Amino acid sequence: MSEVVYAWQRAQWDNWLRMLAAARVPNALLLSGQDGCGIEEFGSALCRSLLCHSEKDKPCGRCKGCRLLASENHPDYLRVVAEKKEIKVAQIRELADFFSLNRHYGNYRVAFVPRADSMNYAAANSLLKTLEEPPDGGVIVLVCRRLAKLPATIRSRCRKIRFPLPGAEAAEWLAGQLSLEPEQARRRLALFGLRPLEAAQKTEKGLDREKFHDELAQWLSAKAPLADLSDIAERWNEQPSPLIQQWLLEELQMMIHAAFVHDAEHGASGAAVAASAANPPANQPANLQFESLQRLHGRQVQRCRLADSNSLNPRLLLESGLLEWHKTFSR
Ligand SMILES: [Zn+2]
Repeated sequence: MSEVVYAWQRAQWDNWLRMLAAARVPNALLLSGQDGCGIEEFGSALCRSLLCHSEKDKPCGRCKGCRLLASENHPDYLRVVAEKKEIKVAQIRELADFFSLNRHYGNYRVAFVPRADSMNYAAANSLLKTLEEPPDGGVIVLVCRRLAKLPATIRSRCRKIRFPLPGAEAAEWLAGQLSLEPEQARRRLALFGLRPLEAAQKTEKGLDREKFHDELAQWLSAKAPLADLSDIAERWNEQPSPLIQQWLLEELQMMIHAAFVHDAEHGASGAAVAASAANPPANQPANLQFESLQRLHGRQVQRCRLADSNSLNPRLLLESGLLEWHKTFSR
């Protein structure tokens, strides 16, 4: 069978196909997990399988339902897209109207909301009304990155499908995508926070996440890091400030794991992979105190917030942060 979903989503997909085959399809599904892991793609495949007329191997890609959907002309399918980063109440009213019409072809009428966490307050309220009186044969598929942004009243009315951060299968997939050795793939995946789709996007120019990791390690182990501080700040400052501050935060998190999580053999996924795959900078002192790393981590979280709010000069924020890094690591 050709791959409809990514290798690390196999368990969720098999579960879903069993539900579908048994005609135990809920009126609302909530798919949740991190960005860059292919959850929206999973949601789209799930919608296609609902509208496919084939008996097996849904979605088949060949039947009338599949072809209508592929040409974006399926009358039983509605995709709700955020406008200017927000889903507004008028769009959710359209969704309610859509469900009030009769089905044309199959057993289901399907609405897909790939960015459910961008609904504004009024839109969420309006969706709640639809969920309270679910339409016959209507299925709403929501995808959400930040569950907390969705009202509990909506969450409780949905069947949840959770996607934990992927592990070994994603590293294998990444190795295939970028023609990498297994070890390189694991390292790259870890550097991208276990988000395989992000890790697979090659940056053709500028600073790549891996290059950043190496430059940071080099800088920290340099004989005179302070002399290079301005140079390195200047180069990194060409990237968006929130991105660089986030990368610095991830580096710290990996160091904390690498220093204090020793039983990496057991979990093949999550933090253990991140810890074992991403080598800490060579000079990271074995006795670097947990407290000083924690303190630096706390300050780095603050710098991420400052970078997001754009309230400080990014170059200044970066240089003062690197000065703190230097102090911590030169002890
Ligand atoms: Zn089909």
